[in-house]
Amino acid sequence: MFESFHLPRRGLMFILSSPSGAGKTTIARKLLAVEQNLDMSVSVTTRPIRPGEVEGRDYFFTERAGFDAMVKEEAFLEWAEVFGNCYGTPRAHIVEGLERGQDFLFDVDWQGAQQLSQRAREDVVSVFLLPPDMGELERRLRARATDDESVIAGRMARAGDEISHWDAYDYVVINHELEDCFDKVRTILHAERLKRSRQTGLIDFTRNLKT
Ligand code: 5GP
Repeated sequence: MFESFHLPRRGLMFILSSPSGAGKTTIARKLLAVEQNLDMSVSVTTRPIRPGEVEGRDYFFTERAGFDAMVKEEAFLEWAEVFGNCYGTPRAHIVEGLERGQDFLFDVDWQGAQQLSQRAREDVVSVFLLPPDMGELERRLRARATDDESVIAGRMARAGDEISHWDAYDYVVINHELEDCFDKVRTILHAERLKRSRQTGLIDFTRNLKT
């Protein structure tokens, strides 16, 4: 079988954000299943673990004191408070992986996307997913049923606020239909991998072409 040729390149930080219920988790899982060079960036959080979640796969769960200590040690690339809980991206694993050409997928809110973009603009590709309409968003939140009524109401209230940050992202994709949305997000990833500035092997490659 034809094996695609790749020059050495720097990894990228692929950020997927959306209001809760717009399909972000489903798209993220599908991407991770088919993209070999893409790893999830697992965040640290102070929020309680939900049924079905696994420590170290979904999050690293910690008490507030442990989180605050990590903030103090500057162990996070970014962190933010969302719905009264703290979430942060551990720094060391990401910095080392990018150097090796490893790509990372980030499920962070707009605050995380903003901080990562400010600190590592060249490495960041940010995608914002929009629901087709707010009724659909609420239906998806209810169908999930892992949160109680007050949490759902809080998330609906925040969805409008979250959506207002759409224009800070590199790409915006409307999730009308899952497969179509997934294809678009994957196309963005593939194109961004080819960006000249990430292809660190180009200098040697072109030098050899000329000699
Ligand atoms: P959940 O509690 O539903 O897993 O996540 C709540 C929100 O926190 C989501 O919008 C998610 O994208 C965001 N989030 C998860 N991890 C991080 C992180 O490390 N940093 C930031 N800024 N947001 C995060």
